[in-house]
Parts: sequence; structure tokens; C-alpha cells
Amino acid sequence: MTQIRGNLFILSAPSGAGKSSLINALLAKHSDMKVSVSHTTRSPRPGEANGVHYHFVNVDEFKSLIEKNDFFEWAQVFDNYYGTSKQAIEEQLAAGIDVFLDIDWQGARQVRDLVADVETIFILPPSKVELEARLNNRGQDSQEIIAGRMAKAQSETSHYNEYDYLVVNDDFATALKEIETIVLAKRLSLHSQAIRHQDLLVDLLR
Ligand code: 5GP
Repeated sequence: MTQIRGNLFILSAPSGAGKSSLINALLAKHSDMKVSVSHTTRSPRPGEANGVHYHFVNVDEFKSLIEKNDFFEWAQVFDNYYGTSKQAIEEQLAAGIDVFLDIDWQGARQVRDLVADVETIFILPPSKVELEARLNNRGQDSQEIIAGRMAKAQSETSHYNEYDYLVVNDDFATALKEIETIVLAKRLSLHSQAIRHQDLLVDLLR
């Protein structure tokens, strides 16, 4: 078998759809899948570690990375900057690892323009009521803050039709299986398999 480059996937979702939990479960099960660690100017949340969840940088550092052309894609998402560095993905893809980009619709648009061979997945919550419950943060926030989060979620969701796949995260195990199926289908595509099994094909057709 010939070692081939990994595949690139984009996962986008409104906040509250369960994207992070799905990505964590996927990585825990598959050592040949990785998520790219983005740079961001937002402050770390409790439990987030620098270099693990994000590379946390200030606005000047972020802008200097833009100037140095270090980003594969970057965007301003609401009040902060977020970006995927070229370094974050290239080594992994070259080593045959499938890489997931957890990025928003603006980043997804840029990557589609740069790379023809990217599979894009949009995750939906099962209902508006459930989304509101998930964004409610155990009743700790005001109605105004929750309404703001719902508006942001709706704005992200309005781009669902730019993606290749839609996964509804109602039952977690089902949603996980569906994402795994998309990854498996990509690995089995003619293009990938013809390279992976080129020796076999040469032999069979000799
Ligand atoms: P959060 O601040 O909740 O971690 O992420 C907010 C939003 O930014 C999410 O929709 C997430 O997918 C998006 N995001 C995270 N990293 C990147 C990135 O590197 N590029 C882009 N374009 N969006 C990102």
C-alpha cells in the first residue's frame, strides 16, 4: 500500500450544536484523525489551555501573522480574530493524517477557494427549543445574553447550504457515526484508493 496524503474536512456549526463534543469523541476513537489548533485573540475560557484548544495571541501578534502570510485562512468572528496557520495542517496532511478544521462559514469559504478537495460538514442542533436550552447555560445568563447567542447561532446557520453534508446532532452516537461515515466514504473514494492500492491495480491489470 502506498502512503497517501490525509484528507481535509471542515466542521462548522452554530454554538450549541455540540460540535466540540463530537470532535473530541472522534479524536478519542481515531488516532489517524486530528483537529487543527487555531490562533485566536479571544481570552481563554476556564479549562482551555494554550496550544491545546487554541494558540491564544493578542491582536498585534495576530496581525503580524497575517502580514507574514502564515495563515491558511483567517476571519473575524463576531468580536475576535480566528485563524488556521498553514503549519497547523500541512505536516499532518503530509503524514497521512485526516485533519478537521473547526472553523466558521467565512473560513470555510476561503478554504473552498484554495483547495478543491475539501469535504465540508455542517452540524445542526435537533430543534430551536433544544438549542435555546443548550445556550441557556443553566439559567445563569440574562434573556438578553441568550437572545444574542440565539441571533449568532441563526446567523451561522443561515450558511448551511454552502456545505457538502448536513448532520443533525440529536442522538450523539448517531451524529458521530454519520461523521465517521463521511470520513470513511472519502477514504474509499476512487482518487484515494487508486493511489493507496496502485501496486495491487498494476498487478491485477498486468
Ligand atoms: P469559540 O470562540 O466559541 O471557540 O469559536 C467561535 C467560532 O469561531 C466558532 O464558530 C469556531 O468554529 C470559529 N473558529 C474557531 N477557530 C477558527 C479559525 O481558525 N478560523 C475561522 N474562520 N473560524 C474559527
